[in-house]
Amino acid sequence: MVMDVLEFPRCAYCGVFACYSADYNRLPANCPMKVLSEVVEEARSELLTNDYSRKLAVEASIIEASGYMKWPRLREIIEYCKRLNVSKVGLAFCIGLRREANYTSQALENSGFKVYSVCCKVGGVDKSLVGVPEEYRFGRGPVEAICNPIGQAYILNSIDTDLNIALGLCVGHDSLFYRYSKAPVVTFIAKDRVTGHNPAAVIYSGYYHRIFGIKAH
Ligand code: SF4
Repeated sequence: MVMDVLEFPRCAYCGVFACYSADYNRLPANCPMKVLSEVVEEARSELLTNDYSRKLAVEASIIEASGYMKWPRLREIIEYCKRLNVSKVGLAFCIGLRREANYTSQALENSGFKVYSVCCKVGGVDKSLVGVPEEYRFGRGPVEAICNPIGQAYILNSIDTDLNIALGLCVGHDSLFYRYSKAPVVTFIAKDRVTGHNPAAVIYSGYYHRIFGIKAH
């Protein structure tokens, strides 16, 4: 069974998207709604019975519809926090985007929230202590602090923030932050130093299609 499961899901290649209209008669052969129906049912049950998760989902849909094609993501996050009656917002940011963090914090405070911001370098833990090989240091000095998303999460957890915002965390460091944050996390900025923090630009670029072997359609 596990071997079979490895064959799917491959929703990214689906041309049907019958799930969108819950058209059970048109589900493709390898559709997870067909081949992993118990798992899908378990998830549905969690969504319907876990009050907090349901609230997160419902409010997200209300924000999606209310600001559709009107609100930039920052406004969506602010409105989402308001609808969730959030008062303490955590802001976990990358030191490389400290100015963006400063402006974002101001915008959130001006919207009435208490904002607790924590820089990724908190703790000043040298990379060598964690086991980063010498050749992967940038050579910026005797101490080169590694990003510390666990520290960011622990600090925000200790303050009991209601919702945390990830701003520009590195690929993989963000995984740790999502993993350790007690509060739900919403991403504001996905860092991409090459595209001006617009990672999707690569997906729209013929040049990168060639680089990554993407067949556009
Ligand atoms: S859930 Fe099923 S119908 Fe929906 S995209 Fe995936 S394979 Fe297609």
